[in-house]
Amino acid sequence: MNIILLGPPGAGKGTQSAGLVERHGMKQLSTGDMLRAAVKAQTPVGLEAKAVMDRGELVSDAIVSALIDDNLGAMPVDQGAIFDGYPRTAAQADDLDRILAKNGRTLDHVIELEVDVDALVERITGRFSCAKCGALYHDTANPTSEDGVCDVCGSTEFKRRPDDNEETVRTRMDEYRAKTAPILPGYEARGIVSRVDGMGAIDEVASAIDAILN
Ligand code: ADP
Ligand code: ADP
Ligand code: ZN
Repeated sequence: MNIILLGPPGAGKGTQSAGLVERHGMKQLSTGDMLRAAVKAQTPVGLEAKAVMDRGELVSDAIVSALIDDNLGAMPVDQGAIFDGYPRTAAQADDLDRILAKNGRTLDHVIELEVDVDALVERITGRFSCAKCGALYHDTANPTSEDGVCDVCGSTEFKRRPDDNEETVRTRMDEYRAKTAPILPGYEARGIVSRVDGMGAIDEVASAIDAILN
């Protein structure tokens, strides 16, 4: 099973990917996570991507497609892949078709998470994650059970993304509208797009996604 989770910044792609990994043993391929790892490690890719990410603009197609190519090629062919935050442009969608074909895979579902714009800003400005295991939380909608302690690994260190501020979020939403949303009709023509109401609680959204996969 190979699926794309599509949706504007803050729609819940990372949160739902983590659930799919846990429930179905799939692998999450998040170009955002890969890029942040490259920035942290100060690799050539990271050094080139950092300023672009801080502005909320899109990193070049060549960079992100190479990341997906490498990571997918390293996976066992029978493990399902969740593409989280990729593809984001028409060129990336074409790249993905080629990369999938090369690996003997086909695209089963494109799932679009739909969330109101106001809710997106609230989700992004309240987002934080565990510095150790990466578990995703939200100040009000999805806090840790015990104040200041990660539910998953017990760590007491958390972090916030530098691009999760209201100004950058506007640019990221504009990028989504201008470059990412236009790739949907191509997938619609193939009959593989499903829309999920992303405004529900995390477990309700998860059930809606599972219903599509089964
Ligand atoms: P979110 O899901 O909150 O929008 P991501 O973690 O997916 O954020 O992406 C963070 C940033 O990384 C983006 O704003 C962009 O600069 C860069 N990025 C991630 N994935 C891609 C991609 N497929 N193409 C271009 N840039 C990307
Ligand atoms: P994306 O990967 O699409 O940018 P995330 O999965 O990181 O989005 O979610 C953004 C923020 O919203 C996080 O703080 C997360 O805890 C929270 N969140 C995710 N799904 C929901 C939901 N269904 N209801 C309320 N908050 C949510
Ligand atoms: Zn943790």
